[in-house]
Amino acid sequence: SRQIRLAARPVGEPRASDFETGMAELDPPADGQVLLRTVYLSLDPYMRGRMNDAASYAEPWRLGDVLQGGTVCEVLESRSVALAPGDLVLAYTGWQTHAVADAEGLRRLDPAQAPVSTALGVLGMPGFTAYTGLRVIGRPQPGETVAVAAATGPVGSAVGQIARIDGARVVGIAGGPRKCRALVEDFGFDAAVDHRSPAFEADLDRALPDGVDVYFENVGGAVGQAVIERLNRFGRVPVCGVVAGANSTTPPDGPVLHAVLRHVLSRSLLIRGFLQAEFVPTHHDAFLEDMTGWIRDGSVTYREDIVEGLEAAPEAFRGLLTGRNLGKLLVRVGED
Ligand code: NDP
Repeated sequence: SRQIRLAARPVGEPRASDFETGMAELDPPADGQVLLRTVYLSLDPYMRGRMNDAASYAEPWRLGDVLQGGTVCEVLESRSVALAPGDLVLAYTGWQTHAVADAEGLRRLDPAQAPVSTALGVLGMPGFTAYTGLRVIGRPQPGETVAVAAATGPVGSAVGQIARIDGARVVGIAGGPRKCRALVEDFGFDAAVDHRSPAFEADLDRALPDGVDVYFENVGGAVGQAVIERLNRFGRVPVCGVVAGANSTTPPDGPVLHAVLRHVLSRSLLIRGFLQAEFVPTHHDAFLEDMTGWIRDGSVTYREDIVEGLEAAPEAFRGLLTGRNLGKLLVRVGED
């Protein structure tokens, strides 16, 4: 198997020298196992946190180990009755071309239902994150205003479209005119605001004449601060991610705790962090059913940004944290 491993812990923005490529001999699959060939590798913002040594909600990755990540794989050899060669599965085999895995824990994908790449995006973890954060915590009501940043990404674009289905007015925040156009033209958002524009604050005011009732927090930093200041009474803030600080070595600019708490108090705000995994047992079946239906009837669309070849993964990952991707970032590792 050709692998990309963590060579050094990045300081700030990851550099090429933080990654190394190597080969590994795989043992043949044992009883209950399968040999897999990677078709797609998912690149996600959480990976940056796992490259640090600091304790987070998950163990940091070890130096020299293959980088982890969600994958769509083809079964090449099977020693399990549950899977046959040629089957496509959702796996977690990371940044490598081949792997041996336990068949238990792999989910078989049906290419007739949806393109298999969507199991890593709109029909996978990011789509589920949007669905649960919005429906369980944000709970938008018809006529309310929902704001979301990193809005063209797999989480943000699903948040906006589900909020529209729920009858809300949706304002997306994204970096640059190309992404802002995509928000309105491809994803059907009511308005888009470019956080890289010098007129950001004034544009935000224009896009939010009635303030914000639900702010789905994906980024934190200066964008988070600007939107939180515009929350209405009883506003809800599902705190999903703070990717603005992903590469920072010092805390990003933002209001100090006391000022935030005063604001939370005076406007009766609900701010609630979540990790999508907490909702899997209770909401995953409903998510798959709803999202599959919305994709089929056209009420949810998705975009993918696919780079070619395992070797392209480190540079593509750098781009994810600086906003180079438009849509769900995937690496095509082998032919699908
Ligand atoms: P995206 O594909 O949207 O990629 C991240 C985007 O963040 C970039 O494209 C960029 O978009 C934006 N961004 C980066 N830096 C800044 C900044 N300083 N200010 C504003 N925007 C910035 O990622 P995902 O959709 O996969 O993830 C979105 C968020 O959801 C992340 O924070 C992620 O960590 C979180 N998440 C949380 C989960 C949970 O369980 N809580 C599960 C999955 C994801 P742009 O160019 O538009 O600025």
